[in-house]
Amino acid sequence: MNLFSISSIILAFSGIIFSLIIYRTDRENKVNKAWFFSCISLGLWALGLSGVTLSDSADSAFWWQCLLDVSAIFLPFLSLLFFFELFNIKATIIRRLGLLLAVCFSLFSFSPLFKVGMTLHYGLQWVNPGPYYILFPIYFLAYGVISVALLIAYYVKADKKSILKYQIRNILFGSTIAYVAGATNFFPQFFSTYPYGNYFVIFYIVFMVYGVIRYKALSAKVISAQIFSMALSIVSLFNLLKSNGMTDWLLNMLILALVGVFSIFLVNSVNREVKAREKIEKLAKDLETANVRLTELDRQKSEFVSFATHQLRAPLTAMKGYASMILDGDMGKLADEARLGVSRIYDSAQTLTNIVDDYLNITRIELGTMKYAFETIDWRTLIEDILGELKPNIERSKLAFSFHVQDENMDYRITADRDKFKQVIANLIDNSMKYTPQGSVALSLSFDRARRKFVFMIKDTGIGIAPEVLPHLFAKWSRAGNANKTNIKGTGLGLFVAKEIITAHHGEIRAESAGEGKGSTFVVEMEPFGKM
Ligand code: ADP
Repeated sequence: MNLFSISSIILAFSGIIFSLIIYRTDRENKVNKAWFFSCISLGLWALGLSGVTLSDSADSAFWWQCLLDVSAIFLPFLSLLFFFELFNIKATIIRRLGLLLAVCFSLFSFSPLFKVGMTLHYGLQWVNPGPYYILFPIYFLAYGVISVALLIAYYVKADKKSILKYQIRNILFGSTIAYVAGATNFFPQFFSTYPYGNYFVIFYIVFMVYGVIRYKALSAKVISAQIFSMALSIVSLFNLLKSNGMTDWLLNMLILALVGVFSIFLVNSVNREVKAREKIEKLAKDLETANVRLTELDRQKSEFVSFATHQLRAPLTAMKGYASMILDGDMGKLADEARLGVSRIYDSAQTLTNIVDDYLNITRIELGTMKYAFETIDWRTLIEDILGELKPNIERSKLAFSFHVQDENMDYRITADRDKFKQVIANLIDNSMKYTPQGSVALSLSFDRARRKFVFMIKDTGIGIAPEVLPHLFAKWSRAGNANKTNIKGTGLGLFVAKEIITAHHGEIRAESAGEGKGSTFVVEMEPFGKM
């Protein structure tokens, strides 16, 4: 076995196997199919060449030469078809003429006008050309010129940085090298020169493989596994061909069979793994797209709610204002029954205002448009103001209300957004009344010297909070089962908003309860303003 036949065998196998790999990825793809056929003809040509160069007798070499000639005649035609498919060129007449020419030329290649027989050149069997053998290189050259012209024309036309441009460049490099190298096989018969060029025909395949891998049409992992198993199979095949005697042959045959089975397992498992990974990657991508869409939808929803609630707020303020004026007697004396009705209107408008405020705050939090106007305020005064405003409700609730300030002389100044902070405290006090059917609500404000924190507590004797509910109490839409029974109207948004606002104030808010029916305590802690 000489280097020449070894390189031909490698070429034959890589051509055939790689064309199969490409074909298997997408059998319907016309470009794949066309490339498959051109690779097969290249592989058969190389197989013929290795057969010729390995033959001992001129007779067997002649038949290998016939395979070589026919596949060589089809090769440039099939390559042109591949370019046609790649560039989407129909050219039906040219295709048919090309096929007709290839068939006729193939038939002609068997005649003694084409090849007379085989003779030895450089220790290898080589074709003995007939008088019209010269047509062969002319045919080859003609196809070469047409193909290169076509490739260059489309290369110039292709978009910059497009995959097609890159592919054409690869094909141009690969096929030019292959054509020039393959043409050196004519040298022995015409110029008595050794056909060194044959070693380089493999570049056609190398360039194509590189191009395919680079664009991930096939995973590099799959190709590596296939090339690895192919190389193993070729080595085992060589061993089989070189076997001396029956036992050696049987052993090598067994090895080849094992390598074959191993290769199939290897390639299949790598294939499966790559496919699974691709599937996961695709799913992740889909998920990402869906997520982006959902986020956008969520934003639109928040914007809509914000707009709608804004529109609700103005009429509510008017309702509350007029109801309050009527109750204060600004519009004349009111009969007791009418007073009850108007005060219900006032309460309902107030409840609705709170709900609308919660929704507005939620959407502002979600849209990230919540703005704070921080200033120095006195916490104690703020609580007293709220208690003043809630007086009618407190009186109506019949609960024992108390507010204890630890140090009457202390300055309970903090940095806060007055309105938002007031809304939180008012909401907590309101909750303590809502969820305490009877008993007491005790408010206290103190200073924890050790931790340098003002501590505000609201302790009620109400329905309490079950231990399993406590950890989720400050989440959006969180409402305990017992709350539903006591107060149907709640939204489960107040505490969520409270937590957001207090956190933005660098403060802390938490709830404590010994369990259902055992009352609750809500605690808000804030840093004092200035040195204490
Ligand atoms: P809402 O009161 O509108 O339902 P909140 O966010 O203000 O919404 O409160 C969330 C839940 O926390 C309430 O539904 C209730 O289950 C519980 N909760 C709040 N305050 C108290 C309290 N003082 N006593 C018992 N449970 C409370």
